[in-house]
Amino acid sequence: MNPRVNIYLNKLQHNTEVLVRECNAVDMNVAAVTKVFCGKAEIAEAIIAGGVKYLADSRIENLYKLKDLPLEKILLRLPMISRAKETVELADISLNSELETIEALNKAAVELEKIHKIILMMDLGDLREGIFDNEELKKVLLVIKEMKNIKITGIGTNLTCYGGVIPDNENLGKLLETAKVIETEMGYPMEIISGGNSSSFHLIEKKGIPVGVNHLRLGESIVLGYETAYGERIPNTYDDVFQLVAEVIEIKEKPSMPIGTIGRDAFGKVPTFEDKGKQKRAILAIGKQDIGTHEVLPLDKEIEILGGSSDHLIIDLTHCQKDYRVGDEVTFNLTYGSLLALMTSEYVYKNYIK
Ligand SMILES: *Cc1c(COP(=O)(O)O)cnc(C)c1O
Repeated sequence: MNPRVNIYLNKLQHNTEVLVRECNAVDMNVAAVTKVFCGKAEIAEAIIAGGVKYLADSRIENLYKLKDLPLEKILLRLPMISRAKETVELADISLNSELETIEALNKAAVELEKIHKIILMMDLGDLREGIFDNEELKKVLLVIKEMKNIKITGIGTNLTCYGGVIPDNENLGKLLETAKVIETEMGYPMEIISGGNSSSFHLIEKKGIPVGVNHLRLGESIVLGYETAYGERIPNTYDDVFQLVAEVIEIKEKPSMPIGTIGRDAFGKVPTFEDKGKQKRAILAIGKQDIGTHEVLPLDKEIEILGGSSDHLIIDLTHCQKDYRVGDEVTFNLTYGSLLALMTSEYVYKNYIK
């Protein structure tokens, strides 16, 4: 069925095993981040087989799908107060930075007769989520101490997301110092010191992760085989676990320049063109509704992507060796953005391959 995403579950398990082995070798546990594939349980199972300790997702809807899988679940995005009860029901652990929210979680946990574990998020300079100064931290701790159904199970940070700040010994060192402050105040040890996402993996490869950081939340590095601080391939991993297959619905020789007065395109932008003479152009049945404006990478290197609209991707086949016909399939490797969009699109068939 086209268009489809082929999902090679064995390759995914392999990538997971490679990353888990490297992390375990330096006493780190891995939480696999499932949001890029919308928390689909079939895919999460391959990751569990790869040996991760936790599953983590940003969306409550995805935690529903993961509900029956045996590992502890982490809610990655700061919880919404309006959904505190679902958070406690579906997540064993949630990431938090706001006292009002933690109070709502405590209330829900009392009602549900559960202990809810939280990881306090610290902002070490990337300026997305996290408590920013130590005064606020101390105030928050004093209040949490009185909560019967909340346990601070750890501390965490998120880097290279908004600000592009790269994890290093200095910022992660600060995380460890803050963990000591919390331990002293609360009187119990932090079980999880979560040193970030796939952008922290480069420190593991260089054996440069500060001792004591014992947890990473890995998404992109598992599914695409890239570390994300410098965009390097991780050795011995697959970058083609997920591939897009789209079908040719038109092939014609056409000029490279549109004919007539140029106004706006389907998305309100005024397009510009370079005259490259006549081209052999094809239209694929996949569009911005499925891939957004993100990049897809044709396996046939002689294909050039010209553009598209909501429902179409227009490609240039002029320089291809292969003689493409209407009805042929074209295969692409994916980037994080296009994978996220394709998995989210209900118009794209998900083809699980064992
Ligand atoms: C998405 C997310 C991750 C995973 O990031 P990757 O770069 O895909 O490894 C980790 N932590 C949080 C809080 C996230 O939202």
